[in-house]
Formats: sequence, structure tokens, C-alpha cells
Amino acid sequence: MEIPLRESDIEVYSAIQSELKREMNSLVMIASENYASKAVMEAQASVMTNKYAEGYPGSRYYGGCDYVDVVERLAIDRARRLFNAQYVNVQPHSGSQANMAVYFSFLEPGDTILGMELSHGGHLTHGSEVSFSGRIFRSVSYGVRPGTHLIDYDQVRDLAKCHNPRMIIAGASAYPRIIDFYRFRDIADQFGSYLMVDMAHIAGLVAAGLHPSPVGVADFVTSTTHKTLRGPRGGLIIAEEKYGSKIDKGIFPGIQGGPLMHVIAAKAAAFSEALQPGFARYQEQVVRNSKALAEELKELGFDLITGGTDNHLVLIDLTNFGLSGLEAEQALGRVGIVANKNAVPFDKRGPKVTSGLRLGTPALTTRGLTEGEMRRIAGIIKRVLDNPHNDTTLKSAKVEVADICNSYPIYSSLDTP
Ligand code: PLP
Repeated sequence: MEIPLRESDIEVYSAIQSELKREMNSLVMIASENYASKAVMEAQASVMTNKYAEGYPGSRYYGGCDYVDVVERLAIDRARRLFNAQYVNVQPHSGSQANMAVYFSFLEPGDTILGMELSHGGHLTHGSEVSFSGRIFRSVSYGVRPGTHLIDYDQVRDLAKCHNPRMIIAGASAYPRIIDFYRFRDIADQFGSYLMVDMAHIAGLVAAGLHPSPVGVADFVTSTTHKTLRGPRGGLIIAEEKYGSKIDKGIFPGIQGGPLMHVIAAKAAAFSEALQPGFARYQEQVVRNSKALAEELKELGFDLITGGTDNHLVLIDLTNFGLSGLEAEQALGRVGIVANKNAVPFDKRGPKVTSGLRLGTPALTTRGLTEGEMRRIAGIIKRVLDNPHNDTTLKSAKVEVADICNSYPIYSSLDTP
């Protein structure tokens, strides 16, 4: 029991060490990723992984829950303060589970849901036919306008009028602008629909007051805890108190068994960090960096969806560039810039190739990078995408990426828990 991993299982140990080096030595620009603090990882790597705790604090189906009750209560209380919320459930294992629990608590199979089209920036769980959400419910999708690429709220209203959805879902995975939750609320009220906002991508910005909050506007707010919020991988549900007991039952026993108490401990630690003043300053820098990146990319000739950004991400439209999203992702990967291909609205290419590249600043900002480095990185991206197969270009870009990584270390030692 006491043998350290590096002695008991060299294969897993080595893979973890390699992943650590990869995270330290590359520029992580995946908009949904971040670096959790050592404190968060310490909580997640704790003995709380050993504990079964079906139920909720003070009302469990197992004995010995005194201390896991403490952390779950801390997580709930801190999330309430962070988002000014009445009811919070911190047990969802992921963002998808949070969405599933809300749907299963308030909808019946076959009910109509109205969510954002995946290829326009929505998430799989908002009604895509390849996810449970599109298989169990009757899914209708809204999108963005062809010219501006901004959410077409008129279309949302027209579709709601036509289909009378039981639930309207707002929130996105690749939308670079502010979402007007009040307009969604108005439409939901006109047609008697529930409104759910999935704020997974922007939760950190919402906590810092940099994006209008959906809490108190939507009936249900779901989120992940690991993106801009910078906690452990996991999910979260916020609602008015009156919905609490239904959601509690929807999570357990509805769709989950024992909660991951070590992850809940880490969520509590992350929420505490997010309540510190430094967190709002971090989020402000995330947005400043994203805007600087967008401006420089535009200056260099790239087409950006919506022409820029209000949040933590930028979506490049490569349609007229002569490269697919996949080729761009691969070329950047060769020099140590990790980003992901992404569909752009009205994309002519399929989801495995795409015509877009999504870039985010949350992880780079955690490393301490600011606007100057963003402009420098935009320049590297341009050079690499102009010459994706030129060895000299790739070599010099790789050296520059390594230089930036060395100047902004993350996880200063390799003995991270
Ligand atoms: N909701 C949105 C808007 C997302 O972008 C994501 C993940 O990228 C999820 C939900 C799902 O989160 P998870 O991967 O934790 O299931």
C-alpha cells in the first residue's frame, strides 16, 4: 500500500510525467482547458477517493461520512457565494452529467428541446443526434446569422413559436461573444418553456462579473468546473431553491451513484480560489489576452468569426486560407501550440476536418502571459500556417514556443501530486 507509483507502476508513472512535461513545454490554447492549482490537485489526489457517500450531506446511505460532508458543504456554500445562487448541486461528474440530470429531472422522453446547433457553436448535449440529448428528446436547433455570426434571436423566437419546446437551452462551446440571457428568458416566457443556461465555457468570467450572469435569469444553470473556472474536471448545477429537491434526486439516484468526493473536495478548493480578488484579475487578463490575440490575428489577415471576441476564445475561419482546421491543428501541434480544429457556422467541411480553429487564452493566462506574448504567438501561428510543411519555419517556431514556455513556467517541479 505504501509503495509510490514510480516504483509500483512505472508505465502509468512515466505517462503522467510525460503529460506533465507536455503541459509545461507547450502552449495550451484549447479554450476549454486550464491548469488547476497544486492545491486543487492535492485535494483531488486525496483519501476522499476512497469514500462512498450516496446521498447528500447529513443524509447519506453510508456511515463514516462526517468529513466528506464537511467538504461537500464547503463546496456548496462557496459556489453559492461565488455565483450568488440559492441552490447548488456539486455532485455531477461532468458538464454532460449536469445537463443530463436537469433534462431528466424536468423533461419526459420525447419532449422538445431547443438548443444551439453544434456546428454553430453549441454543445453535443444540447440536442445533437449523436448524444443522448438528441436521441431521447425531440431536438430542434437554432443558430447564428449568416452575415454577422451572432446568435439569431429572431430564429430562436420563431422556432419556439413553431415547436413549443419544453426547454430552451442557451450556452455554447465555440461562441466568442456575450450571450443575451434576458432575450432567451423573454422567449422562454412567451412560450412557457423552461430556460437552461449551460455556462461551462464562461463560468469563470461570470464569477468575475465579466459576462452577465445567467443565475436568477434562467431556471437552471449548468457548468463544468474545469474550464475558465480553473477547478478539477467536473460539473455543477445552480437553480432556485424550489427546484432543488428534484435536481438532487435527478443526480442521485437518477443518473449517478456515489459522488466523487475527492473531486468535490477539489471543487471546494477551486471555489475558494475563485472567491479571492486575484481570480477576478486573472479573468480580466484572460479577456484582455483574448482581445489582443484577436486583434493581432486580424491584423495578420485572418478571418475571425464575428470579427473578434468578448470572451476567452477566438474562432478563426480558415475557409479562404487554403488550410483545413485539421491541417492547422496538426501544423501548430508540430511546433508545440496545442489548439483544436472546430466547425465554423455553415461549414462545408465535416466535423473531423472542419474549416475553423478555436483558440483560447485561459491556460496561457494562468501561466502569466499577457498581451505582448499574445501578439507574438499570433505571429508564430501566422508563420506556421503560411508554411505548414517548411522545416526551417517549423524549427524556428518551435524554438520560439520553447522560449515562451521557459519564460513562463507552470508547475515549477515535476513532483506534482
Ligand atoms: N457544456 C459545454 C458548453 C461544453 O463546452 C462542454 C465541454 O466541452 C460540456 C458541456 C461538457 O462537459 P464535460 O466534458 O465535462 O462532459
